[in-house]
Amino acid sequence: MTRTLRLLLGDQLDPQHAWFARPDPAFRYVLMEVRQETDYVLHHGQKILAIFAAMRAFAARLRTTGHTVDYLAIDDPANPQSLPANLDALIARHRIGRFEYLKPDEWRLDRQLADYAAGLAIPAQAVDSGHFFTGRDEAARFFGTRRRWTMEPFYRHLRRRHGILMAGPAQPQGGRWNFDAENRKAWPGTPPVPADWRAGHDHTELWRRIEAAGVASFGNPDAADLRWPLDRDEALAHLEAFLEQALPHFGDYQDAMHSRAPRLFHALISFALNTKMLSPHEVVARVEAAWQSGQVPLAAAEGFIRQILGWREYVRGVYWAAMPGYAAENYFAHTQPLPSWFWTGHTQMRCLAHAIGQSLETAYAHHIQRLMVIGNFALLAGLNPAAVHRWYLGVYIDAFEWVELPNTLGMSQFADGGWLATKPYIASAAYIHRMSDYCSGCRYDRKARTGPDACPFNALYWDFFARHAGTLAGNHRLAMPYAQLARMDPAEKAAIAEKAEALRANLDSL
Ligand SMILES: Cc1cc2nc3c(=O)[nH]c(=O)nc-3n(C[C@H](O)[C@H](O)[C@H](O)COP(=O)(O)OP(=O)(O)OC[C@H]3O[C@@H](n4cnc5c(N)ncnc54)[C@H](O)[C@@H]3O)c2cc1C
Ligand code: SF4
Repeated sequence: MTRTLRLLLGDQLDPQHAWFARPDPAFRYVLMEVRQETDYVLHHGQKILAIFAAMRAFAARLRTTGHTVDYLAIDDPANPQSLPANLDALIARHRIGRFEYLKPDEWRLDRQLADYAAGLAIPAQAVDSGHFFTGRDEAARFFGTRRRWTMEPFYRHLRRRHGILMAGPAQPQGGRWNFDAENRKAWPGTPPVPADWRAGHDHTELWRRIEAAGVASFGNPDAADLRWPLDRDEALAHLEAFLEQALPHFGDYQDAMHSRAPRLFHALISFALNTKMLSPHEVVARVEAAWQSGQVPLAAAEGFIRQILGWREYVRGVYWAAMPGYAAENYFAHTQPLPSWFWTGHTQMRCLAHAIGQSLETAYAHHIQRLMVIGNFALLAGLNPAAVHRWYLGVYIDAFEWVELPNTLGMSQFADGGWLATKPYIASAAYIHRMSDYCSGCRYDRKARTGPDACPFNALYWDFFARHAGTLAGNHRLAMPYAQLARMDPAEKAAIAEKAEALRANLDSL
């Protein structure tokens, strides 16, 4: 009998994969906690802890269902802390005759494992994880030679192809493809937001072992009771709670932010999805069924499905088309280092103190906080996009490069020059005030552009348009701000430029 070794990565925890249909003594599975994976960027403690805890739960589940599993813990003296070294040792020890692995979603690991497999003396095979609606190159084939892509046509193509929210072969339910315009309300304090989901497991001992092994991290590890579902059963329970308590309001308040409600009506399922405990197919099907049964309005169901079927598949397509090299893109040649308060949350700007403080505390911020507060500031202040990317990759519980990089570098920093997004996502204090309660009680004046108390977003915003007029003024989606800039008094323009320069020179003190 040929013995086969099958590698499972920390984001490949899908018990429904065909590999696990029935136990077979010919197959050994291996999961490993390795410094190679904890150290490629500085991670939030919750991210390391949640991935290891979920891997341990998955290994236990496989063993309970009769599979043979090797598990290498981070503090195991026999663990040389890299995937190839551990695989070599297992192949030799168990006289393995064949190696298989699930295709990784990150370019870095895809290359490493492809090279490793090519160098083996035994046969090796990469197997599809079966997780996504689309193949790696499907978006590239869909867009062909076009250099600028947009999500919407790809989303509609997938709606049609998979028959999701469709009234006929080419007819969307409700007569519209997109209910985005209805998703822009601020949250006035009601309806009440759902309570935090907690599984009630204490991970203090695992956290102690991670720290004792010397793994560096930042942020609050929250080891006494992580809020993230760590196995499929917990993830399904979490999904049902979301459908019942939050989805009905998801569409309305999708873009809202509030200092007393960090989560609002978002799902908090990106960790379960990205580690593959949940499949996007089942989540989309469950949401569509909730609409069909009258549990949620069509706008909420469509808005949510668009995130998963549309954005999630689209950014993955951008990632595989743009790699390698995407992480080095820097369209605006921005070079500023991150201000020190990215690591503490201690800034006088109330919006950023909340969004960054919450990220450090919970390893989570919702989309608009990531895009229109933190990312918006980073772009306006001219922060180095590669440094911004590394911060996002480290801080968020759901950050895996295939999804984080296009969102950060492409959508939020426009560092790819407009491949993924048609215009930079930037805004002044007026937008943040409209969508949140952050500005009331802030030390800065949201209405002022210049002067010692002026909100830093305002001068940086107008100065950004002025500095980049050469590359952006021709973009028809930016016609309004450029028309406004043209009408601005030259003395005010000069004062704004001076103010913005002073702000960029003193980012740490803001
Ligand atoms: C700068 C920046 C960095 C981001 N980094 C990540 C990341 O590392 N990992 C990640 O999963 N998402 C990332 N996103 C997308 C999005 O912010 C998160 O998916 C979302 O906040 C996760 O929380 P949730 O489960 O409560 O999402 P919800 O708002 O409830 O949305 C539901 C699901 O839709 C999917 N989704 C929504 N928007 C996107 C998007 N733009 N791209 C891909 N999937 C999306 C996610 O799977 C999410 O779980 C990033 C967005 C920005 C602007
Ligand atoms: S005034 Fe400016 S810095 Fe303060 S919360 Fe509003 S947008 Fe943020």
